[in-house]
Amino acid sequence: MPEPSITENLEETKQLAFRVIDFLLGHGIAPAPLSYAVIYEYLGGTNGELRQRLDEHLQTGKALDEFLLRDLHDIYLITDAYQQQYAMGGDLRELLNNLLEHLSEAGEGTKAYHQSLQKNIAHLQKPVEPASLRAIAVDILETTEAAQARTSLLQARLETSQQETERLRAELEQQRREAQIDPLTGLFNRRALDAHLNRLMTTEEGEKLSMVLLDIDYFKQVNDTYGHALGDAVIRSVANTIRKCIRGDDYPVRFGGEEFLVLLPNTSLDGAAKVAETIRVRIEALRLVRRRDNLALKPFTVSLGVAQRQPDDTRESLFERADRALYQSKQGGRNRVTVGSA
Ligand code: GH3
Ligand code: MG
Ligand code: MG
Repeated sequence: MPEPSITENLEETKQLAFRVIDFLLGHGIAPAPLSYAVIYEYLGGTNGELRQRLDEHLQTGKALDEFLLRDLHDIYLITDAYQQQYAMGGDLRELLNNLLEHLSEAGEGTKAYHQSLQKNIAHLQKPVEPASLRAIAVDILETTEAAQARTSLLQARLETSQQETERLRAELEQQRREAQIDPLTGLFNRRALDAHLNRLMTTEEGEKLSMVLLDIDYFKQVNDTYGHALGDAVIRSVANTIRKCIRGDDYPVRFGGEEFLVLLPNTSLDGAAKVAETIRVRIEALRLVRRRDNLALKPFTVSLGVAQRQPDDTRESLFERADRALYQSKQGGRNRVTVGSA
């Protein structure tokens, strides 16, 4: 999350808030928290990449919608560090504080026990009456019992803390995984793609790497005809089809609203083109039915672009080639696969 240091001045913040709300309403978007946060950052923040992405979008003259804002939010406003810090930091801090408290309590107790033993030992170094001897024995017994009780209490607390630590660790791991998954489709999200692609580009595994980009054709019409909920269902069905057409090593990503990307390691351009064609044909053949009223949706299609990594490719140049190929598929009439030339 960006530093909340945009302005400390109440009046300025208020003005900014009005501008954010005006901006959103001006684009026909409700000032709900997520959209508000993105535009607040856009108008008043320091995140250059976010500003550039949004400026580019606005320059194309395309409408702004909450889907794009959600994408921007996920890419630029949430980071793993943020999630961990906010979701887990509090719990962990509390746990450690408790532990420290127990440990220092135990430390105090041990010190008292030690002192009491030393006092009794000092007594025993002189000749003692049997009656005093008995008193000393009782004292030792009592303080030892008390010390034992404290130790087992500490033991129990440490065990609880250990279980708690384990639970937090598992939760952290789960959050880390979830932060990489797109909730609508279960495919990887863009953040995960960045990390994975970085890894692939620097290892042998990624030497023969191909990329497929996919965009649903005329998707706006799907939304306009059937509503967003059904639009979401269509996006999910595309994701499921992609999943069925790829291998274990392949890496399917929901790249944006209705755009997908698949990384195919150890795959030739030809092989990737075949996968892309299989996906295209299967999606063209889908016949979706709305469960509520058995309404048969109009069949829909996708356009795809394929590229293979060349030795001097960067992530960007590889992506640009696939993107150009996808653009050609759209220009050529949609519902087709274009293979990008090196
Ligand atoms: P083209 O064939 O050129 O790709 O046309 P298109 O209508 O598919 O393309 P365009 O980019 O104009 O519209 C994409 C639309 O997808 C805009 C946006 O409202 C919608 N959209 C983006 N993300 C989501 C989402 O998560 N769910 C739903 N239901 N719609 C989304
Ligand atoms: Mg699109
Ligand atoms: Mg589209």
